[in-house]
Amino acid sequence: MCGIVGYLGDRQAFDILIKGLHRLEYRGYDSAGVALVNDDGNLNVYKTKGKVKNLEEYCKDKNISGTVGIAHTRWATHGEPNDKNAHPHYSQSKNLAIIHNGIIENYLSLKTFLINKGYEFKSETDTEVVVQLIEYVMQEQKCDLYKAVHQALSQVVGAYAIGVVERNNPNLLIAARKASPLIVGVGENEYFLASDASPIIEYTNKVIYLNDEEVVKIERNQEIEIRNLKSVKLQPTIKELSLNLDDIEKGGFDHFMLKEIFEQPKSLALCMNGRLNKELNEIKLSAITDYYEKFEKCKRIVITACGTSWHAGLIGKYLFESLCRIPVEVEVASEFRYRNPVILPDDILIAISQSGETADTLAAMELAKKQGAFVFGICNVVGSSVARMTDTGVYTHAGPEIGVASTKAFTTQVAVLVMTALAVAKKLNTITEEDYHRIVKELSVIETKIEEILKQVDTIKDISKIFTYAKNFIYLGRGFNYPVAMEGALKLKEISYIHAEGYPAAEMKHGPIALIDEEMPIVVVAPHYAMYQKILSNVQEVKARKGRIIAIVSQGDEDIKKNADYTIEIPSTEECLSPLLTVIPLQLLSYYIAVAKGRDVDQPRNLAKSVTVE
Ligand code: GLU
Repeated sequence: MCGIVGYLGDRQAFDILIKGLHRLEYRGYDSAGVALVNDDGNLNVYKTKGKVKNLEEYCKDKNISGTVGIAHTRWATHGEPNDKNAHPHYSQSKNLAIIHNGIIENYLSLKTFLINKGYEFKSETDTEVVVQLIEYVMQEQKCDLYKAVHQALSQVVGAYAIGVVERNNPNLLIAARKASPLIVGVGENEYFLASDASPIIEYTNKVIYLNDEEVVKIERNQEIEIRNLKSVKLQPTIKELSLNLDDIEKGGFDHFMLKEIFEQPKSLALCMNGRLNKELNEIKLSAITDYYEKFEKCKRIVITACGTSWHAGLIGKYLFESLCRIPVEVEVASEFRYRNPVILPDDILIAISQSGETADTLAAMELAKKQGAFVFGICNVVGSSVARMTDTGVYTHAGPEIGVASTKAFTTQVAVLVMTALAVAKKLNTITEEDYHRIVKELSVIETKIEEILKQVDTIKDISKIFTYAKNFIYLGRGFNYPVAMEGALKLKEISYIHAEGYPAAEMKHGPIALIDEEMPIVVVAPHYAMYQKILSNVQEVKARKGRIIAIVSQGDEDIKKNADYTIEIPSTEECLSPLLTVIPLQLLSYYIAVAKGRDVDQPRNLAKSVTVE
C-alpha cells in the first residue's frame, strides 16, 4: 500500500519521481505529492488530492528543479484523503520533508508529547509525527539527520518505509524501513528509492533490499551507508533484478487487468518451467526435495493468506486432503494471527501472498515460526519479505501483477499448490502412479486449454453487457469450484462495486435462496464431475424461482445448458485442475461488467494492491 519513490543523482529528479509514481499508482491513489531540494538548498513540497495526473497538473507552474527528491502516492490510513493529509509532510521549521508507507501505532502518545513541546500539526496523519520527532531529536541532541532518524525510529512502534530530505542539503537522502517494503536502486552516480522494483528497472537492475530496522544514508558521490537502529554498520548486499520493462507496461491492452488475464497461459508456463517435466510427466520442486520428511511427520497443514490468495488456499485444502490425505485448515491471516491459535511443533504453515508483503500474512508466519511450525511460503515477488522469512518456498513466477484485482497471481498460486500436493502425494504414496502421471500430464497442457477459453472473450463480453443493471450477484460452486465461486464474487465486487456473494451451491437453500427473483443473476460453476447431478438440482432450484443463470459448464454439456440463460464452456480436464479453467470466464465477466459500467478497473475505489498495513 502506498507508493514511495526517491531519487538522488545528476539528473533532474521531478520526471523520474512522477514516472515512478505512475508505476506505483496501483499501490494507492488517494493523493500524491513530491518534495524536491534544489541546488540553492530550497525544499519545495507540492501535493494534492487525487491521482498522480492531478499532481502533474498542479506542478505545471511550480519550480520543480532539484536533483534530489522524494514522492508518494497515498492509500490513507489516518486522516481522510485530502490535500493536507497528502505526503510529503514538512517538519515544524519546514527544514525536513517525509514520505511514509505504513502505520505508526503509537502516534497519539508521540503527538501529545510533541504538542507539549510546542509542535503544531498540519495534518491528521500518523506520518507527520515522525518528521516532527526527527526534527525534535535534531534540535535537542544537536545531531545530524541520519542520527536523528535512528533515534526517532527507536521510539516508534508500528510499520514504516520512509524517505526524508533536508533543506539546504541537496546531497542527502535518508530512508528506513520496518515491515513495509523499500528497495534502493544503485545506478551510475545515482540512487533510487522505491516501494518495489517497477520505478527503478528502467534505470538500473542493481538493487539493495533493505531489511527491517535498517536506515540508509544516500549521499552524492559517496558509497551507500546502512546502519541498523542500534547504529551498527552493515554491509549492503547488491542483488540483480530480472524484471523487464515490458512486464510492467500495458502492451496494447486497455487495462493491466485484461493484459494479466490474457497473460495467464504464459505465466502458468513460466510457473511450471523447470518444475514440471513434460517428457517424464513428473513434478520436481527443489524447494521441497529436502523437506519431504516434514510432510511425512506433519499431522496437519495450516494455510493462511488474505483475499484472493486465501481463495487459492481454500483450493489448496481440497488438493492436499484429496491427494495427500493430510488434514488442512485454511484461515485468513488477520484472524489467525490474533486468536492465539494452537500450533503444534510438526505443523506446516503455508503462507500465500502475491506481493510477499501482506502485513497480516507476515505476522501469521512470524507467529507460527515462533511456535515451532515449519513455514512454507508461496509468493510472486522475488526477494519480498515472505520469501526472506520462510523456511522454504516456491515462487509463482507470474511476472509483475499490476492490476489491483488479482488474476494471474491466483492461477499461478493454484498451480504451485497443485504441483506441491502432487509431489508430496507421490512421496507419501497417497496417489497411484497412474493418477499421478495422468494429472501431471493434464497440468502440462493446461495453458492451451486456457487459451481456448480466452477465445470466447466476445461471447463473455456480450453476456457482461446484459448484467450491468444488477445490484447483486450470487456465485455458486461445489468442491474444488466452491472457492472459485468465492473468487468470482470477489472479482466482481472489487472492480464493478456490485454486491456479490460466493456460496457452496447446496448451502443456497439455507439462506441466499430467499434473494432469488427474476432480476437476480446467479453464476453457477458447474463443470462435469462427480457432483454434477447435485449441482444440476441446484440449478433447477434457481430456475424454479426465476433466477437468471449464467453457467460455466464443460464442453458438450447438455443438462445444465437447458436450464441456464447463458453458458460458457470450458474444455475437459482433471477435477483438481478445473479451478485453473473455471476462474478464467469469471475474471473476464467481472472485467467486462466493470468496463461497461465505466469503472476504473485498474484502480478501483478504496482498494490498493499489496496490503502492507494490517
Ligand atoms: N499512515 C499513513 C497515512 O495515512 C501512510 C499511509 C500509506 O501507506 O499510504 O498517511
